[in-house]
Amino acid sequence: MMRMPLGEYRKKRRFTKTPEPKGSPAVRRKSAGNLFVVQKHRATALHYDFRLEANGVLVSWAVPKGPSLDPSQKRLAMAVEDHPLDYARFEGTIPEGEYGGGTVMVWDIGTYDLEDDEDFATAYKKGRLTFTLHGKKLKGRWSLVHTGGTRQWLLFKRTDRYASKDVDITVDKPRSVLTRRLLATIAREGGGDVEKAASGDPH
Ligand code: MN
Repeated sequence: MMRMPLGEYRKKRRFTKTPEPKGSPAVRRKSAGNLFVVQKHRATALHYDFRLEANGVLVSWAVPKGPSLDPSQKRLAMAVEDHPLDYARFEGTIPEGEYGGGTVMVWDIGTYDLEDDEDFATAYKKGRLTFTLHGKKLKGRWSLVHTGGTRQWLLFKRTDRYASKDVDITVDKPRSVLTRRLLATIAREGGGDVEKAASGDPH
């Protein structure tokens, strides 16, 4: 992160083909600095993209199983390229054959507060981020811990009143927080592969 702002993001995409944002400086100027978003993404495989704003970009991880409210369920989170801030409200279809081709839903959005006095870059470098989420679905304390390789982290809930062993939040709350749509509807309305998208909805 932060070596080449959005260079990797732009290199992977053809903006003549994909409706994804290129990254607007105006959005960057307006932001309060502590946005978080989770995007449910039915690409080659279903995953949840977990993004935290830092230094003008969305630092990002792909979480195959999605977040769990159960502190004992530590979920693999693969670090991926930084995304532009205006990506946070992107919901729609990426054409098949393009990078990340499939359907994207804004599954949760809100703000976050880093736990300790360290700044984000320092905590990231140490491989340990603890923060409080103020989302519509995800609340309370969470951690991201770097476990190995260059990209492997774990995302997990910390014990507090928002933790739960009983609720599977991804099954319980499957809809977009922006439009209340399921993946299949987003795909249908965006001219995407409806059957493929529907396989990511609970059934
Ligand atoms: Mn993704």
